[in-house]
Amino acid sequence: MKFAVKAWSNGGRARTGVLQLSNCPLPIETPSLLLTTRKGLPVFIAPDLLLSLPSPDSHLLHVSPMHFFEGASRKTISNIGGLHELVGLQNYGFSASPRDSMVCLPVAETTNKFGAAFETPCGRLSIKPSEYVEMVSSLKPNVWASLADEVPAYASESRNKTTVDRTIRWLDECISLDQARGTSVLGAIVGGSNVDERIRCAQEVAKRNVSGFWIGGFGLGDSMDEQGPALLNAVVDNLPKEKPRQICGLGLPEEILQGVASGIDLFDSTYIYQLTLGGFALTFPLERSERQFSDSYMIDSSGSDYTKINLRATIYRKDASPIVDGCDCYTCKNHTRAYINHLINVHEMLAQILLEIHNTHYYLRFFQKIRDAIREGEFDLFCQEFIHGRRDHIAMAAMC
Ligand SMILES: [Zn+2]
Repeated sequence: MKFAVKAWSNGGRARTGVLQLSNCPLPIETPSLLLTTRKGLPVFIAPDLLLSLPSPDSHLLHVSPMHFFEGASRKTISNIGGLHELVGLQNYGFSASPRDSMVCLPVAETTNKFGAAFETPCGRLSIKPSEYVEMVSSLKPNVWASLADEVPAYASESRNKTTVDRTIRWLDECISLDQARGTSVLGAIVGGSNVDERIRCAQEVAKRNVSGFWIGGFGLGDSMDEQGPALLNAVVDNLPKEKPRQICGLGLPEEILQGVASGIDLFDSTYIYQLTLGGFALTFPLERSERQFSDSYMIDSSGSDYTKINLRATIYRKDASPIVDGCDCYTCKNHTRAYINHLINVHEMLAQILLEIHNTHYYLRFFQKIRDAIREGEFDLFCQEFIHGRRDHIAMAAMC
């Protein structure tokens, strides 16, 4: 893996960069979204339709090694040639980290000095660093994060200290176990909601021989509105600028903007999956000229807001328009809101397939706009316009 920073926002921490992976023909620009997968493939989009998504933006996938502890043995996966060969996506990049915010969550109460505990599709698992590295070695992802002891935001001060001590010890174990293979390891940074512990963890991890950083512990009972930006800024300020930073647990558009503003490059988030499951479609304006009130962002009683619409709602039953006029995704070019509303109501999985295509396509375009704004020196303005648009919409909805 090679990473290079290309541009910085005016006086800020936000930056654009390029990530080059050996098996991907084109470099991937950052800040970038990692597509959520279950066992290496997006939950609803089949590999043939994956090709319809923007390229190479869609060529970076997130995978949780925890999904593979039940099923084919590590030796079988290794004999097949690893994850790329197993799922038939040889030209895609995989970034592996234990947690996925979807079905594989850390359980701080049962994590102990021997290993980290997770709720997984295979039940509750306690994984030692050696078992984790063995699984990663079989899967052969392009990059992988070391095992972390993630704790919720309300953890005590002593627990926050323990989580940092354990995570650094496990990082050293992971690095020494992986030494012969020389793969790209992202050092996990934790510390709960304690700024001092976060800084200590970042400084210790930065001393190690890692290819980048994976920031954990967000999205576990905390709110980005409160302490999040200060915690993130404190972490990032203690990391070398030339290495990539990946974060788990930030997914909402405002959270992505806050993460980018703090200098995060890669986001592994299950936001798109969760939206899709709920029948939601992203509709917020991407172009500055579009950021005016229009009927696409109408206020109704169907659970829609400035960023998305709920296609379960009966108001879309006869709506013959695409989800977003002008969107060039497969779904919007071929189908209407009324058809997706029908599919949701008759419980056809095609509804989720079409929604996941649109939502992924749309969010990748959002990231593209963020990169453009940083390059043009207008990232602060981009954030302000987005947040004002959202605020105005909420104010208008409150008056209706
Ligand atoms: Zn679309």
